Amino acid sequence: MTENERIFWNRILELAQGQLTQATYEFFVLDARLIKVENQVATIYLDNMKELFWEKNLRTVILTAGFEVFNAEISVDYVFEEDLSSLNSNTSNNDSNATLQPTTQQQTQILPVIQTDLNPKYSFDNFIQGDENKWAVAASIAVANTPGTTYNPLFIWGGPGLGKTHLLNAIGNSVLLENPHARIKYITAENFINEFVIHIRLDTMDELKDKFRNLDLLLIDDIQSLAKKTLSGTQEEFFNTFNALHNNNKQIVLTSDRTPDQLNDLEARLVTRFKWGLTVNITPPDYETRIAILTNKIQEYNFDFSQDTIEYLAGQFDSNVRDLEGALKDISLVANIKQIDTITVDVAAEAIRARKQDSPKITVIPIEDIQTQVGKFYGVTVKEIKATKRTQDIVLARQVAMYLSRELTDNSLPKIGKEFGGRDHSTVLHAYNKIKNMIAQDDSLRIEIETIKNKIR
Ligand code: ADP
Ligand code: MG
Repeated sequence: MTENERIFWNRILELAQGQLTQATYEFFVLDARLIKVENQVATIYLDNMKELFWEKNLRTVILTAGFEVFNAEISVDYVFEEDLSSLNSNTSNNDSNATLQPTTQQQTQILPVIQTDLNPKYSFDNFIQGDENKWAVAASIAVANTPGTTYNPLFIWGGPGLGKTHLLNAIGNSVLLENPHARIKYITAENFINEFVIHIRLDTMDELKDKFRNLDLLLIDDIQSLAKKTLSGTQEEFFNTFNALHNNNKQIVLTSDRTPDQLNDLEARLVTRFKWGLTVNITPPDYETRIAILTNKIQEYNFDFSQDTIEYLAGQFDSNVRDLEGALKDISLVANIKQIDTITVDVAAEAIRARKQDSPKITVIPIEDIQTQVGKFYGVTVKEIKATKRTQDIVLARQVAMYLSRELTDNSLPKIGKEFGGRDHSTVLHAYNKIKNMIAQDDSLRIEIETIKNKIR
């Protein structure tokens, strides 16, 4: 043991003694040993059953001592009797011997077979790239090509239905294709928590540890659910898993509906780690990408889609790829029932009517915000938008703002009219239809409006 390690350990004992009753201290702490501190990870030997207690009650003590002695955030890797025997002796059974210097081949023989839970239908090939996801795709491909070395962890965030789960699985499938022996696990944070609970209940935490800490690639979906759970120990367990993998240069990819910094209820040290690698964002697909996604998707269906229909659909669902796919399913259902081969705009409109009504419009956007952004874009004040002056610039800004108010909020036409200086609902409808028609013919206007939309959201 180095001098620092000795000071560190003594400090832990001292602090623990100050915090615990004598009996608790003797039972839980006295026979623990510090094996080493390396790469800011303290390896501590414990009785199996005592780990939870340590995790729960002595984390702060270890952190404190770590900062005092090493001036760093020290994490912990607990090891147990069986780990020790495999570390120390060559005469125990063969299996544990082999774990001493695991080569990839040996590893795959010894460790239990893992169920990847990957969805084989998601690949890079069937993921359409656009400006809004190109960095996420590039990073995902880089990670899949050289897992554990490029960006670790890779943190992909974005709104629902934008392809996070797809990319996560594509990474896993691609790695698996290269290396069928790779130990890969896809899991939602929600299920990670469930597994944790089950293992706690059955008192089989070691199994869980074995399962997750021996992976080559861990793909965790929707990490934000970990933040919501206050269940004691889950974040800790995840933290330890993360460290164990990261320290061994094993790749971790996480997805989330928000940035690491916005994961409010997550422990700061986890957030810090999430930012160690690369954070990439996916935003809603623009019109071109939506057309491309649809054009690609309709190949799965036995119908003819007119170009009009594709463009119409791309105009209907603009914030979520899942909705686009859902629309195609609706259409296929209707077309099957009615035995229609060619999908016209009318057929499509009819089929998706219910979905359009369901699809949540974003009510939280105040009309005022829309007016402000549109005004800024066209160099017009909100006051002018609301007033009656009819110069060309102001009229366009006014009509675009009305169009977006209808498009992006749930407000009724009369309500929107009222917000625009008390105009009649028919004026709003007229503006809406006018802009809608213009967009269909005028690419630059469409792009302008997309740009404004992105500012508003
Ligand atoms: P998220 O996990 O971000 O909520 P998903 O990955 O589940 O979104 O994507 C929803 C659906 O949309 C999936 O079926 C996925 O295949 C599809 N999808 C999303 N983005 C794309 C894209 N760029 N190209 C092709 N399909 C996509
Ligand atoms: Mg998802």
